[in-house]
Amino acid sequence: MPDETVLRAKAREVIRTGKLPSRPPHHTRGGTGAGAPCPVCGEDVTKDQLEIEVEFSHDGSNPGLDKFHIHVR
Ligand SMILES: [Zn+2]
Repeated sequence: MPDETVLRAKAREVIRTGKLPSRPPHHTRGGTGAGAPCPVCGEDVTKDQLEIEVEFSHDGSNPGLDKFHIHVR
């Protein structure tokens, strides 16, 4: 299990490379994993793990909602 510092650095990298928006999310929800891949570590968030679901709404030419499932830690 990587330590918190490594995970935080990874999360910053994910934001920096544009995989996650850097602006505040439109909506967040905590809960158990949905089996979707976590963009920070690349592994699925399984049902026995906790995740934060973050949603970013975006407008412009392609309005919609981006949803990410991220491990709580
Ligand atoms: Zn993860």
